[in-house]
Amino acid sequence: MESLRELVLARSHSMALGILIAGAVIFPFLLAVPAPYGRHWKPGWGPTLSARTAWVVQEVPSFVIFVALWAVHPQRGALTVFLPGLLFTVHYFQRVFVYSLMQRGAKKPNPLLTVLMAIAFNAANASGNAVSLAARPLDAAFLAGVAIFLAGFAVNLHSDRVLRGLRGPGETGYKIPTGGLYQWVSAPNYLGEMMEWLGFAIATQTLAGWAFFAFTFANLAPRALTHHRWYRAKFPEYPRERRALIPYVL
Ligand code: NDP
Repeated sequence: MESLRELVLARSHSMALGILIAGAVIFPFLLAVPAPYGRHWKPGWGPTLSARTAWVVQEVPSFVIFVALWAVHPQRGALTVFLPGLLFTVHYFQRVFVYSLMQRGAKKPNPLLTVLMAIAFNAANASGNAVSLAARPLDAAFLAGVAIFLAGFAVNLHSDRVLRGLRGPGETGYKIPTGGLYQWVSAPNYLGEMMEWLGFAIATQTLAGWAFFAFTFANLAPRALTHHRWYRAKFPEYPRERRALIPYVL
């Protein structure tokens, strides 16, 4: 595992640059063509998996790879390495072992193509972030970053829970979500996710962390806009003052 860590570390800079470039490519693409899963799924994207299987299979590499490399980090005893590592691990534990298993409408199709792309991203992102962590001063940026991450995590968890509560067992339809940040935006789960990785980047000050935040924005901001337009078209009574992603702004 030590030699694997050395190998990844030597490539972490170019992997982060690759993720930044991928984000720049997918951003305009996703503005034009929504990622074909959930409400935007359409036939024609090849073989599919059930949504639940897709989520577990595509996210579990993030958890396993990150934990394996973080566990052998030579500075893992430093708080500024340990705490961001713990936040990353808890986020992905939740995504793989809680979110995926509690999802409603989990039998919907999800293209294998997007799953394979997510696995490639997650493997590069988790390994690059694990090896790039480095001990740094316990300064205001670190503390602010951790606070932003925790606030984002709370927003993401609560918002996904609201969505889950809109369906009974076996239901697959859509309703207008209310409560929490849904009062202001259509996709507070994505806003929370972005806050998490912004906080992580501020706390860790690594290129890998900033690349992860930029990619998350490039991936989810277009999807928030598409969800918002979809809600307005589907529900004539949809609250007019609600924005897509950022209260009062976007
Ligand atoms: P969505 O908001 O599209 O859907 C989340 C879940 O809620 C799905 O099961 C969906 O069902 C259901 N749902 C959504 N809206 C409604 C509604 N109005 N009524 C009833 N049920 C609804 O989120 P994603 O699936 O895109 O993402 C899930 C999580 O993963 C989020 O927390 C997101 O932040 C995170 N994520 C992170 C990424 C990253 O780049 N870091 C990338 C993608 C996701 P259905 O599937 O049937 O539409």
